[in-house]
Amino acid sequence: MTIDLHTHSRVSDGTTSPRELVHAAAAAGLDVVALTDHDTTGGWAEAEQAAVETGIGLVRGIEISTRYRGAGVHLLAYLPDASDPARQAELARIVAGRQDRVPAMLGRLQELGIAATEEALAEVSGGNEVTGRPHIADLLVHLGVVATRDEAFAQYLSDGGPAFVDRYAADLVEMIGLVHAARGVTVVAHPWGRGSEHVLDESGFVALKQAGLDGIEVDHLDHDPCARARLREIAQRLDLVVTGASDHHGAGKVGHDLGCETTAPHELARIADLAASLGSPTTIVGRRREGSLR
Ligand code: AMP
Ligand code: ZN
Ligand code: FE
Ligand code: FE
Repeated sequence: MTIDLHTHSRVSDGTTSPRELVHAAAAAGLDVVALTDHDTTGGWAEAEQAAVETGIGLVRGIEISTRYRGAGVHLLAYLPDASDPARQAELARIVAGRQDRVPAMLGRLQELGIAATEEALAEVSGGNEVTGRPHIADLLVHLGVVATRDEAFAQYLSDGGPAFVDRYAADLVEMIGLVHAARGVTVVAHPWGRGSEHVLDESGFVALKQAGLDGIEVDHLDHDPCARARLREIAQRLDLVVTGASDHHGAGKVGHDLGCETTAPHELARIADLAASLGSPTTIVGRRREGSLR
């Protein structure tokens, strides 16, 4: 069983359609893939159809932008009820915050003499519902200002960079509650990635566990072996689900190939059981596969 629980389509900042993503996952030999676009369920229906076409198991998820102790933390929500009004309203607020900051970031780039217009951005990032810095990075590549997304982040877009503008994100503890109310399962994404180890220490995980957190994404390319071992130990102590995933972004993130990091079948079974015990109407598409998790 090969299970990859964190991927992005063009609906957020990946580079393939949800359908192409699911077909690519099947072609890569995955048994189960989760679509976890940033702050939106917009790709779910198309991915679901593709899962039926291919026979692969599909976990419908979202990677939600939250804030904890002043820093950005990504929260993976698995199998929530897509129609839950409170969670929908909060996601809409996050998406509005994303869209509102785009003109400000383009303005910063224009002040630096770069022809970063909304029209040019639309040309580069057409098709997405949720705009992120990776789209602006693609624009900088398109304009020949930098060679890669990574270079765009390093020179202009990373937190505190010359074109960085902050945006609204939900409070992490409140969001864990909202996802549970929507009958979904919560897993903190790459908690110690990109130098963010100080944000969530062990006492932070204890507090989040008390708030209802269900799991930790341990096996992620942004975690070195030492971080993984320590996170695994924390998860074990707090009885949290342990996941692993590629965080695939199509051609947008080098090295994050589908299935490069994976989740153990019994951990996915725990996620499915938790969603079922919360009464979620969202199941893993491809029940045939779900039955073989244990
Ligand atoms: P945003 O969603 O606008 O806050 O942008 C954050 C997203 O950009 C993350 O989800 C990553 O996928 C991506 N990202 C963040 N830092 C980098 C980086 N240094 N290089 C490439 N992509 C990055
Ligand atoms: Zn992303
Ligand atoms: Fe993330
Ligand atoms: Fe991600």
